[in-house]
Amino acid sequence: MIVPCYNEEEVLPLFHETISEVFKEIDVDYELIFVNDGSSDNTLVVLKELAKKDKHVNYFSFSRNFGKESAMYAGLNNAEGDYVGFIDADLQHPPILLKDMINVLDEGEYDCAACKRVDRSGDKKIRTFFSRMFYKLVNSMSDTHLIDGAGDYRMMKRNMVDALLSMSEFNRFSKGMFSWVGFKTYWIDYQNNPRAAGKTSWSFWGLVRYAIDGIVNFSNAPLDIASFLGFIMTVLSFIYLVYVVIKYTFFGDPVQGWATIVSILLLSGGLQLLSLGIIGQYIGKTYMEVKNRPHYIITDSNKKNIDNIK
Ligand code: UDP
Ligand code: MG
Repeated sequence: MIVPCYNEEEVLPLFHETISEVFKEIDVDYELIFVNDGSSDNTLVVLKELAKKDKHVNYFSFSRNFGKESAMYAGLNNAEGDYVGFIDADLQHPPILLKDMINVLDEGEYDCAACKRVDRSGDKKIRTFFSRMFYKLVNSMSDTHLIDGAGDYRMMKRNMVDALLSMSEFNRFSKGMFSWVGFKTYWIDYQNNPRAAGKTSWSFWGLVRYAIDGIVNFSNAPLDIASFLGFIMTVLSFIYLVYVVIKYTFFGDPVQGWATIVSILLLSGGLQLLSLGIIGQYIGKTYMEVKNRPHYIITDSNKKNIDNIK
C-alpha cells in the first residue's frame, strides 16, 4: 500500500497500528510505502521510527512538497507487490476494507478494487456543492468518466499498475488516469470518516485548481467551446453588419448607437479574453510537459538502489 503523507506526524502511529492489525488478520506478504511529501513537521522522524520497528515499512522522503500526485507516482514507481494500492494516512479510508479488496482481486475477475464514498457527511456543504458541480461539468465535457465519491483508495493488479506507469505525464490527475486506462473495476461503497487527527491540506483555491486540471488534462472541450463561441459571434456580427450597411445606405444614419458600440466592444473583448485564457491553460500545461522536469526528488529512503530523481 502506498501512503502519501504531508504533515501527518499526529496520525501516523495510529494509522500504522490500524493497518498492521488488518494485514495481520489477512495473512499476506505486504509492504507499506510511505512517501513523505516534504512535510514541515516531524513526519519523517516518525516514519524512520516506524521503519526501525517494522520491516514492512519503507519510506521515501521528498526534497520539498511536490503534491499528492507526485507522492503517489513515486510510490507506484517503487512498489514491488503483485497488488498495489493507495490509501490516505488520515484514516479517512477505513483500512478494514483492504480485506474485501484483496478478496475481490484474488477471485480473479477484476483488475482493480476501488472504494467509493456513499456520502459526504463531515465535509463542508459548500465543498460538497462544488464537488458535485465539478463531476457534472467534467463528465459532460470529457470521454473519461469520473465517478463522484471515488477517491484514490483502491488496489490494483500489476497489469493496471504498469499501464499507469506508462503514463509519465507531468500533469498527473489520478482520478482521470484510473478511468482512462480502463480495466475492470469493482466498486466498494463506504461511509465517509472524519479525519483521525491533523488537518486537511486542501484550500478552496487548491481545489479549484485541481478541478481545472481535471478538465484540461482529459478534455479539449473548452477549446471547442471557445471555437464555437467565436463562430456564433462571427455569424451574429455579419448579420448585424449587413443590417447596419443597409440601414445606412437606404435610410441614412444620423450618428447614434453609443450603447450598441459599448455593448459590442465589451462583449467581444470579454469573449476574446475568455478564449485566450482557455488557450493559455492548455499552453501552460504543454509548457510544463515540454520542459520534462522530474516529478519528484527523493532525498532520503531506507531502500537502496532507487531512482532518486524521476
Ligand atoms: N497529501 C500529500 N501531499 C500534499 C497534500 C496531501 O501527500 O501536498 C496526502 C495527505 O498526507 C493525505 C492525503 O494526501 O494522506 C489526502 O490529503 P488530505 O487528507 O489533506 O485531503 P482530503 O482527505 O481532505 O481530500
Ligand atoms: Mg483526508
